Amino acid sequence: MDGSSQVTAPAVLILLGPPGAGKGTQARKLTEAFGLVQLSTGDLLRAAVAEGTEAGRAAEAVMKAGGLVSDEIVIAILRDRMAEPDCAAGVILDGFPRTTVQARALDGLLAETGQSIAAVLSMEVDDAAMVDRVSGRYTCAKCGEGYHDSFKQPKAEGVCDSCGSTEFKRRADDNATAVASRLKAYHAETAPLIAYYQDRDVLAPVDAMAGIDDVSGEIAGIVRQVIA
Ligand code: ADP
Ligand code: ADP
Ligand code: ZN
Repeated sequence: MDGSSQVTAPAVLILLGPPGAGKGTQARKLTEAFGLVQLSTGDLLRAAVAEGTEAGRAAEAVMKAGGLVSDEIVIAILRDRMAEPDCAAGVILDGFPRTTVQARALDGLLAETGQSIAAVLSMEVDDAAMVDRVSGRYTCAKCGEGYHDSFKQPKAEGVCDSCGSTEFKRRADDNATAVASRLKAYHAETAPLIAYYQDRDVLAPVDAMAGIDDVSGEIAGIVRQVIA
């Protein structure tokens, strides 16, 4: 990416990276800083599972085992969400696309809506760091703010910084067996998207090994270059 082509809103940003890279953490910060809507296919799928919809029932076992949900289901969920009015102002895709089929489907969808990809933020982390991050992860049960046993604890123990709730939850798939499958799926299916977006000149590498605030700073600098 050479930063020469600014995209006027509505912009689409993509956060690309393995589980635990910090996509959710950074997407949340971007919504606050740039007023874009965070669109996480993981969150949408977990909501579908909780509601017991047809897609949720089909996805549940695959997610628990750390596999990828079928392109057909994920693309349908994303398409429906992107059609909602709040997405017209621009979105941050967190966890989508994860396969080349999904990337092509997104290209088709954006051609229909007249939106374009401003940047693909490629979050680079070591496999070992990813395992540490995922295994210590938990979130506020009320507002979804993310925390970590070692890297990001609430300022007051047991109380969410953002909303004051004292209830937290951990994901069923953040266990060693599922994490190994998720990492394998990432390398086999998702990592090829780095070249896919490099070829389209929208890839922006981010050093996601740095601390949370340093990563946010690097991302904000990139986003300011591409969003008018
Ligand atoms: P992803 O959405 O890519 O799976 P998350 O944003 O949920 O990743 O982050 C995974 C875990 O690592 C969370 O517990 C989060 O608090 C923590 N984390 C995120 N970014 C960093 C970072 N740069 N350094 C250390 N820990 C981080
Ligand atoms: P992480 O934050 O650890 O990267 P996500 O919350 O994005 O995890 O995704 C959790 C699970 O939901 C994935 O392991 C996968 O089973 C499913 N999932 C999420 N997004 C997609 C996608 N774009 N394609 C296929 N499966 C997905
Ligand atoms: Zn909270």
